[in-house]
Amino acid sequence: MHLNLDTTPWQHVGQAVDDAGKHQPVGYWHETVSVTPGAPLAERLQCDVAIVGGGFTGLSTAYHLKQHKPSLDVVLIEAGVVGHGASGRNGGFVMPLLGWDLLYAADKLGDKTAGDAYRVMYDAVDYVKRTVTEQQLECDLEATGYLLLNTCAAREKRARREYDAAHRLGFDHQWLEGADLDAYIRSDQFISGVFDPHPCIVNPAKLARAMKQLIESMGVRVYEQTPLLELRDEQPVVLRTPEGEIRAQQTMLAVNGYGEALGLMKSRILPVHTFIVLTEPLDDEQLAQTGWSEKRASLESARNFIHYFRLTADNRILFGGEDAKLYYGGRYYDADEDVFDALKGRFRAYFPSLHDVTFTHQWGGVLGISLDMFPSFGTTGDHENIFYAAGYSGHGVALSNYAGAIVAPLMLRAAGEAGVPEPAHTPFFVGRRPTWMGMEPFRYLGVQAYRALLRVQDRIQGA
Ligand SMILES: Cc1cc2nc3c(=O)[nH]c(=O)nc-3n(C[C@H](O)[C@H](O)[C@H](O)COP(=O)(O)OP(=O)(O)OC[C@H]3O[C@@H](n4cnc5c(N)ncnc54)[C@H](O)[C@@H]3O)c2cc1C
Repeated sequence: MHLNLDTTPWQHVGQAVDDAGKHQPVGYWHETVSVTPGAPLAERLQCDVAIVGGGFTGLSTAYHLKQHKPSLDVVLIEAGVVGHGASGRNGGFVMPLLGWDLLYAADKLGDKTAGDAYRVMYDAVDYVKRTVTEQQLECDLEATGYLLLNTCAAREKRARREYDAAHRLGFDHQWLEGADLDAYIRSDQFISGVFDPHPCIVNPAKLARAMKQLIESMGVRVYEQTPLLELRDEQPVVLRTPEGEIRAQQTMLAVNGYGEALGLMKSRILPVHTFIVLTEPLDDEQLAQTGWSEKRASLESARNFIHYFRLTADNRILFGGEDAKLYYGGRYYDADEDVFDALKGRFRAYFPSLHDVTFTHQWGGVLGISLDMFPSFGTTGDHENIFYAAGYSGHGVALSNYAGAIVAPLMLRAAGEAGVPEPAHTPFFVGRRPTWMGMEPFRYLGVQAYRALLRVQDRIQGA
């Protein structure tokens, strides 16, 4: 395996730092944190583990490696600044979703495997809540629970089946309609819903920056503005950056949707984009009109192309989804005006009383999607010293934060570290290789056709 970015202009993560060395925020969350970009790597160094990517996956891997073995020499390089990718831009929903939904997982994997995997996902949600509290990570965490809203009869029927499957597998979902639903949210667009009390919401950029501080306090060396340009699959692994070089006994590729640009999991994990619009802060009266004032549950509409919406700590509404876009050739974008317009239109349909509310921010980002929407963790290369975790398919906040709890023991055991216990349970997505989705232009055309099909289905169902 040899990853080399020299042949493409190195731009795919976008500009995180301007020419004067100042952080360039992407979206609202980045404006709520103060970021002084760290200096790039400008030397040759050796270390035990080199982590590529300063999102939740990379941060979590560093954290868990150091927790297991404080003396381990761990270096993390990030092309932009920590939290520049999806981890600092997402909706902040910390949820147990895996695959399309629990019903899909049970149909595809069987009750036993799906139940075990979903238990790992609930562990991941609990883990985020626990770690934020124990490590005092300031990230506006709110334990709101999560409500999936049905907007049409067809989706309600599927939600019923999913609700039954959840109970069969031992999860305490609650069915809501009528006054019980109105207690959470009021809109004539929502006919019923399924409430899960466990999920929470966070300010993701704050969480990423707090994790950076935490791992640095544990002795991890973090280099921002340091893109990986070339990786040589040797023992040790050689990682070349614009002004430096790292020789690492092991490496972790924590680049999720950006893996495509590195040639990692090419056409197996696709760089798909999702977008968000955000309102000005709402006052008490505006909030009361939506019924959102008492319970602040995070919300999602049940459709193929979901909408996800939540309140921020200062009572703005964050509204995302509506479409999911793969651009030709796997290109990367932070904005898509068509999707922003469609999101605003949908927002007004859901909340007509808020028709004159102003939108102050809009942004997007890239995530990694596999064909069956399940993630993939494992090793690659000839020497069993290159690890990866990716393909969370739109709901990776919980699992990417938990990724290190799964990957760090694998890495330490592979390095022959004594006393690292075998995991009690290895989720099915460890060691699996997602399906290959073909070359361009066939891949792009195939995805467009599939996307059109899903949109038509949403339209026919009235979702
Ligand atoms: C707009 C949006 C909304 C979302 N909303 C939610 C949500 O509400 N809930 C949820 O569960 N999930 C959500 N997701 C998905 C979730 O954010 C991701 O699954 C998760 O953050 C993945 O984390 P990661 O660390 O694996 O990847 P990332 O956060 O993307 O981190 C990868 C990092 O690698 C860096 N990088 C890339 N290439 C290189 C290179 N060559 N050298 C060095 N560094 C490199 C990038 O700059 C980036 O910082 C959303 C995603 C987006 C884009």
